[in-house]
Amino acid sequence: MRKQIAAANWKMNCTYQQGEKLLDDILKAKPALGADQLVLFAVPFPYLIMAKSEVADEKNVQIAAQNCYHKKAGAYTGEVSAEMLDSIGIDYCIVGHSERREYFNESNQDLAEKINLLLSFDMVPVFCCGEALAVREAGQQNEWVAKQLEESLFHLSDDQIKKVVIAYEPIWAIGTGKTASAAQAQEMHAFIRSVLAKKFGQPTADQISILYGGSVKASNAAEIFAGADVDGGLVGGASLIPEEFVAIIKALK
Ligand code: PEP
Repeated sequence: MRKQIAAANWKMNCTYQQGEKLLDDILKAKPALGADQLVLFAVPFPYLIMAKSEVADEKNVQIAAQNCYHKKAGAYTGEVSAEMLDSIGIDYCIVGHSERREYFNESNQDLAEKINLLLSFDMVPVFCCGEALAVREAGQQNEWVAKQLEESLFHLSDDQIKKVVIAYEPIWAIGTGKTASAAQAQEMHAFIRSVLAKKFGQPTADQISILYGGSVKASNAAEIFAGADVDGGLVGGASLIPEEFVAIIKALK
């Protein structure tokens, strides 16, 4: 079975102390996880080491970075490299969140570079894709998402693509309270898997976890995650509320 993943994206929220308490509250209340289940906490850079030590004794709980730079090393003041993350034992990193694409002008080509660097350190990229409202209203969402996949992932080998986690996040549903319907999510996830299958073969595509992101909360998680091609969620706002995120973890298949 593919990994079923509940990934928390804290974005630029919480002080160190608030983050420590949030993590603590969730770890105390979360259910035991099955062998095919994984909980990820994508925390701000300054909290990675603290978070890593908080989850050290937990089974199937990992810490992720929210971003890394697309160059290996050098004079890039303020940036954080994949190698730096690897050197503190971080195994997962979100890549291409729509907020990074929109506010920091990250291109599909930049993201391909980030993915190469992460994979070179044996880290797992959590690759975000998804369309804006205007694209969906024009009925162009499939072409849009296929282009994102092609330009950032299609250069990978079979072995490499199997390590990538994909998060489909329609931009119109992120932080807006609007969620894609369970049917809309499943339809796009099945499309993404078909694009991957065409390029890498069905057996490989079947091994790749595809998460849904966009206003997932306790009240809608089970219905969305029930989709055959939906392998959990990438969660922003609701991941900052312990009861909400614990309920989302409980909704994993
Ligand atoms: C996200 O940040 O990836 C996200 C999906 O946010 P929210 O759950 O708040 O819509």
